[in-house]
Amino acid sequence: MTRAKILANSKLIVVKIGSRVITSSKNELDSSAIETLVKDIEELYRKKYQIVVVTSGAIVAGLADLKLGSRPTDLPLKQAASAVGQVKLMHSYATAFKKYNIPVAQILLTREDLQNRHRYLNARNTLLRLLEKGVVPIINENDTVAVEEIKFGDNDTLSALVALMMDADMLIILTDICGLYTDLPCDNKEAKLISHVDKVTPAIEKMAKCKGEGAGGMETKIHAAKMLTESGIPVIIADGREKQILNKLISCEEIGTFFAPAEQKKKSKKTWLAFSLKSKGQIVVDKGAKEALLKGGKSLLPSGILSVKGEFEAGDSVSITDENGKEFAKGLSNYSSEEIQKIKGLKSSEINKALGYKDYDEVIHRDNLVVL
Ligand code: GLU
Repeated sequence: MTRAKILANSKLIVVKIGSRVITSSKNELDSSAIETLVKDIEELYRKKYQIVVVTSGAIVAGLADLKLGSRPTDLPLKQAASAVGQVKLMHSYATAFKKYNIPVAQILLTREDLQNRHRYLNARNTLLRLLEKGVVPIINENDTVAVEEIKFGDNDTLSALVALMMDADMLIILTDICGLYTDLPCDNKEAKLISHVDKVTPAIEKMAKCKGEGAGGMETKIHAAKMLTESGIPVIIADGREKQILNKLISCEEIGTFFAPAEQKKKSKKTWLAFSLKSKGQIVVDKGAKEALLKGGKSLLPSGILSVKGEFEAGDSVSITDENGKEFAKGLSNYSSEEIQKIKGLKSSEINKALGYKDYDEVIHRDNLVVL
């Protein structure tokens, strides 16, 4: 599908704004850059687009008050800087939007919020209601509480998961580089900007070695693009410092890199399963079960299970791998790892005898399973 056709049908757009787009080289928040971007967003808002902003910049914005010269590496210090900076960041956005009488909302998320189905649905409903009410939601990671296990780690991933959660029509990632290049533009003068990517192949992933701004650089952006395009959502990576960038993109100017969506869109619950959840363990299955899951659209029964790795509870997300350890599906397990140890290889009719009870015939029901 062409860029023009997709853009013509886009309404709900997630815009990710990277730290370098809105901070100066002196590591300070650049409120005039924020004002310029907000003006750009305001024009889209008037044209009836629904915009969700995911912004970085809290850590950098907090450096001066903590008398820090550069981004700290120490986690609590980073969290402290972010807590101080988030206030400034939001203040800048709120002031800029106020000029146009557009209300804003602050939403701070951790990965845990999207892993828990109830919290995920709550966040989604709140965001939908805010959009309905004409509010521009401004999202960042909740850095204060986000320790390793529950953090996204970078706002590229966060923005992709938000776009999935919202079933957005598009994600625009604004950064300090014009898009994806064939090679590092700083090292290789021959490096060319790629304007259209049909599919994120390993060759494309290889080109993403360019270490750009923020926590993730180009690699996390390409990963985000892969995750979204496979779910049917297009992505554009473009230079956020270019004037009127959003309006130029929406009017189909061939700038930045456009990642085309796959034709077949995954259902929202399946994308949540595939991308929002971290696996707590692994279930290794035999060839027959793999075939049944991949081609037959079947549920996972205990009879096809060879072994189980890790410790998890019923309801947890697990990866399903083949005998060679290759992960090919993910799902929510009806049984704990301990229970699966006891029922692996058995027929469903034998579960009762092995456990003394039987809650389900399937270890993972088809509705809670996604093929990757
Ligand atoms: N949440 C971090 C901040 O606001 C940014 C993470 C990133 O750069 O991707 O500074």
